[in-house]
Amino acid sequence: MTKTLPPPLFLKIDELKCQGHNRCYLICPELFDVDDFGMAKLLSNNPIPDNLMEKAQLAVQNCPEFAISITDSSS
Ligand code: SF4
Repeated sequence: MTKTLPPPLFLKIDELKCQGHNRCYLICPELFDVDDFGMAKLLSNNPIPDNLMEKAQLAVQNCPEFAISITDSSS
């Protein structure tokens, strides 16, 4: 029996919602950065590595603007 792998998951930031609290960066600097105006940006468009999934979920839960999501779509 072959085991199916779960689909890769990606982070998304809604730039219209982000207010630059920087919590995401403080929680997970491995995946997030902030620009010169303090707004969040992703360091990569690659799938979230397994070892950082818990921190990515924490960032989603701690964004006060609900600007971060995890999706199975890379676009
Ligand atoms: S925590 Fe949310 S609002 Fe704050 S910088 Fe990150 S994405 Fe933007």
